[in-house]
Amino acid sequence: MPEFRRADGRIDIKSLTLLEIEAALTGLGSERFRALQVYKWLWQRGVREFDEMTNVAKAVRASLAERFYIPFLDVVAVQKSIDGTHKFLWATEDGHRIESVMIPDDERNTLCVSSQVGCAMACTFCLTGDLGLRRHLKPSEIANQPLQVRQKLDEQARISNIVMMGMGEPLHNLDNLLPALEIYLDEQALNFSHRKITVSTVGLVPQLQKLAEALPVNLAVSLNATTEEQRRQVMPITRKYSMEALLAACRDLPLKHAKRITFEYVMMAGVNDSPADAVRLVKLMRGIKSKVNLIPYNENPDRPTIRRPADAVVKGFQHHLVTHGIQASVRVTRGRDISAACGQLGKADPDKARVDEDRIQAIRIRREGEGYDASRFAFDDIV
Ligand code: SF4
Repeated sequence: MPEFRRADGRIDIKSLTLLEIEAALTGLGSERFRALQVYKWLWQRGVREFDEMTNVAKAVRASLAERFYIPFLDVVAVQKSIDGTHKFLWATEDGHRIESVMIPDDERNTLCVSSQVGCAMACTFCLTGDLGLRRHLKPSEIANQPLQVRQKLDEQARISNIVMMGMGEPLHNLDNLLPALEIYLDEQALNFSHRKITVSTVGLVPQLQKLAEALPVNLAVSLNATTEEQRRQVMPITRKYSMEALLAACRDLPLKHAKRITFEYVMMAGVNDSPADAVRLVKLMRGIKSKVNLIPYNENPDRPTIRRPADAVVKGFQHHLVTHGIQASVRVTRGRDISAACGQLGKADPDKARVDEDRIQAIRIRREGEGYDASRFAFDDIV
């Protein structure tokens, strides 16, 4: 791993793996087993100073403090939605803003974690993409989000699930994501089960294969289209990795523990919510251990031309998938009043937003030219 140093020359100790901390301690003349004690203080107790590590010799603590520092995110604001969702706005050491969102429901508390400042993927429906990529988050910044949310919320709000679906494309930052995921999974650190961690991607094929080989976490692919052309319009990454190549890779992924890939499908009225889309989606899922998560678009003033489909359209779409053997759910929108819903994280750039609206509008006009009328959606016509 590269070292992350700050201006005073000290190294970010929370971006190191346990093995790297062991090597550092050996270099300082300390026993290797002390590394596990330090690691637990960092990730289980969440200490802010080396001097709080009371079972580590004073001289070792002093040497550690000379060479390393313990990074934390600064809490800028915590907003609470009327539905109980919490949005955490953090500042990084170099002054960037990132967000995490805690979504409680009856059975679980899911934390949506950011992996980058901004994002390079430019998905048309997403406000985070408007920022462009400012930088990758370090392992410590990815892993500090659940640690610090745990520290801020009381025990009743214990995080049960983590989804890497906040700001950024996690697999674009795979080098820092992998050590952060190891910290999530390590029982000596944050101790989450692999069943409770989901990494979402737009479909960076080589990185998706590397992640599936490296760790047994759940995978989610943001699909959002049923033809190559449609997907190129809403997800520019399709120009690099076609939908066909992505789905072929998904068919062949070495999935462990009987896992299924979740395909996320943001439904946009008149863009990708037609009966023909539902029919194509069923075909696309053939041969893949999959489930589909339909996400009705969260309308917002920065994308006035992208509309949310009517509930009946969403239900009809789901019905078609389910009756054709596809496990399909509809995501309930959460945290909309505090801009914490899907695709709303980060600040919008009005010029970029306009370009995206033009692209979406072009798809809609073409679809209407093909005789598609969203107001007369009827699955009965096609099944
Ligand atoms: S949807 Fe995800 S990958 Fe696409 S621009 Fe937004 S943050 Fe990036």
